[in-house]
Amino acid sequence: MLLTLTLSQPDPLHSAADLGFLLHKHPERVQTQTLSFGAASVFYPQVSAQRTTAALLLEVDPVGLSRTARPGEGAPLEPYVNDRPYASGSFLAVALRDVFGTAFTGRSRERQALADTPLTFTVHLPCVTARGPEGLPERLFEPLGYVVQATPIALDPLYPEWGERPYVDLRLSGQVRLRDLLAHLYVLLPVLDGKRHYYLNEAEVGKLARHGAGWLDGHPERDLIARRYLRFAALVRQAEEGFSVTETVEAVAEQAAENEAQAPTTSAFPRPRLHDERLRWVADQVHTSGAAQVLDLGCGEGKLLRLLLDMPQIRRLVGMDVSARALEIAARRLNLRERPEVAARVQLLHGSLSYPDSRLKGFEAATLVEVIEHLEPHQIGPLTRHVFGEARPGTVIVTTPNREYNAVFEDGAEEMRHADHRFEWTRPEFAAWAGTTAQTHGYALTLHDLGDTHPDYGPITQAAVFVRQNR
Ligand code: SAH
Repeated sequence: MLLTLTLSQPDPLHSAADLGFLLHKHPERVQTQTLSFGAASVFYPQVSAQRTTAALLLEVDPVGLSRTARPGEGAPLEPYVNDRPYASGSFLAVALRDVFGTAFTGRSRERQALADTPLTFTVHLPCVTARGPEGLPERLFEPLGYVVQATPIALDPLYPEWGERPYVDLRLSGQVRLRDLLAHLYVLLPVLDGKRHYYLNEAEVGKLARHGAGWLDGHPERDLIARRYLRFAALVRQAEEGFSVTETVEAVAEQAAENEAQAPTTSAFPRPRLHDERLRWVADQVHTSGAAQVLDLGCGEGKLLRLLLDMPQIRRLVGMDVSARALEIAARRLNLRERPEVAARVQLLHGSLSYPDSRLKGFEAATLVEVIEHLEPHQIGPLTRHVFGEARPGTVIVTTPNREYNAVFEDGAEEMRHADHRFEWTRPEFAAWAGTTAQTHGYALTLHDLGDTHPDYGPITQAAVFVRQNR
């Protein structure tokens, strides 16, 4: 991928070739630098007093990257076959910062006055990833004073009916200080990209705060920029409540640093706490139901079983899962071998909710915590019949993600939260299934919002409690 930066002659006393002093890169040499994700070269296709162009050529190493890819992400071939080497986005932003570090600070030993002056620059990026609403490049760069020319790139020029790819040929020109231009690109290229290939770590988020200083807070698309950068709904809300983007980004960095200090290998995303809260809510519901015999369907590694075992009211606890490996881990975590008094109350069953199973009959309560979305949509009918029609527990507690809430996440609404999910329901979809299920099988139904709740998109997790009516 390529970026060219052209300076037109700033004034009669200076030559456009002074760009070399501003970038700290000599116009007569090709300079190559190795980065963590590839190699970057800087060279000058044209040098004259009137116009000087510097080019940054970035060669991303997709195979090297695939070795550090996180498991469970995207399609199996995705780490090898993708647009990373060709389309400019987050990688280019990071490369700019690494290659032109001194220029980012605005210092120039030889030409400080020029570095401090708005100059006539043109930036050309032949292929930039631009996901999201149409006109986004204009909305992001025009308020900063640039003339923007964004030309969509067709999938194949011979077949216009195939449509366009999420890429544009982008040209920006304006009167701007070099350090501001670099900061704008650094922050806004990943925003345009929408999906960060390069996982910004916590230190990186802090840098974002610095590069946004002075222009981000006054930007009319501040909220969109914040939403695409900030992963935590609560912090996005903070931004909406009048905290500046800079403060919010700093809060993210702080929180992330804290998380990292506690668990160096886990991501900054506060999933564990969310899941713990959800499990506690489900355990409370089981407690309220008064059930003594409880079934945890899709029990996974047994987190809920552990909570339920602490409740003296429960005499018999059965965990069921389709994954034998998850059950092995559950058995180990519950320490069944060394605790005969626990083993006497709990049993783990290997089975699938897609099939009828007489072992599931005779329970006062059953839980399905974040399970239904792991089945294929066509299996939901059978699951519903097997649980509500045949096993018929007195109370059934179901939780599942609310797809609408995904809009709050950085990557937007089009993606699911976990690679294993086969579907995610909106609130109306979940309510429709729950309503029909309750009616068909004779259960009373209440719906609940769990966890952080967005005013428009609703809760992060939706839940239903079914209570059997006719005994
Ligand atoms: N309830 C647990 C695990 C949720 S993950 C928790 O909240 O921590 C979803 C679980 O559903 C996985 O353990 C998966 O193995 C299980 N699962 C998926 N399809 C299933 C099926 N057809 N029958 C039973 N369990 C299934």
